Amino acid sequence: MERTLSIIKPDGVERNLIGQIVSKFEENGLNIAAMKKVRLSKHQAEAFYAVHKERPFFGELVDFMTRSPVVVMCLKGEGAVAKNREIMGATNPEEAADGTIRKLFAKSIGENTVHGSDALETAKEEVAFFFAESEIY
Ligand code: UDP
Repeated sequence: MERTLSIIKPDGVERNLIGQIVSKFEENGLNIAAMKKVRLSKHQAEAFYAVHKERPFFGELVDFMTRSPVVVMCLKGEGAVAKNREIMGATNPEEAADGTIRKLFAKSIGENTVHGSDALETAKEEVAFFFAESEIY
């Protein structure tokens, strides 16, 4: 059993897509082990995306992620990290495979509807960034 972090980004929450996105995870055998809606502070968004701080899109990414609430989830299942990435699709929605969340819903490479941890080690850090162990079922 693996755990991974998923975020429904502001563009997804703003367009009332929470239910459809959560369904995709459940239909594909992932279990929602923890879930909450939060409005990220600038400080939190900068810390969460610290790995990208030298990238040209960093400021825009922080503005986007803080403009309205997000839904954060801990997903659980066999091979959850890779499975979540598969369900999400490629970063750029134009390159995302048919049926993936980003292909279905994302507007651009920046506003791409969902975040998902990219590796098991990152997943551990990212889940702990948002959830106490006692909140994960
Ligand atoms: N991003 C962006 N412009 C880019 C590349 C990435 O705005 O050219 C944003 C986008 O929201 C992406 C996030 O930065 O999801 C993190 O980028 P990463 O390459 O880690 O993609 P992901 O793991 O989210 O697919």
